[in-house]
Amino acid sequence: METDGVGTVVSLLVVPTLNVILCSGCGQCVAACPNKIFTLETIRFHKNAMITHPELCNACGRCVKTCPVAALLWDP
Ligand code: SF4
Ligand code: SF4
Repeated sequence: METDGVGTVVSLLVVPTLNVILCSGCGQCVAACPNKIFTLETIRFHKNAMITHPELCNACGRCVKTCPVAALLWDP
């Protein structure tokens, strides 16, 4: 959180970007994240990781390093 100099509070949310097309639903990011921001969901018979608690991310980078298909990146 920070202010913009005139008293407005701006929320800075830092969380990796998840590419759901690349995601294979392996679940490794779910296991790797110490803050449990991911869940595994099945959408139209395709299993995907979903970011369900982005506010809990501490930007440790474990999920980005763990993903075997590079579906998690810091930049879109
Ligand atoms: S960067 Fe760390 S805290 Fe954030 S989603 Fe990835 S593993 Fe979880
Ligand atoms: S580690 Fe990568 S491929 Fe596996 S569920 Fe997470 S985002 Fe998807």
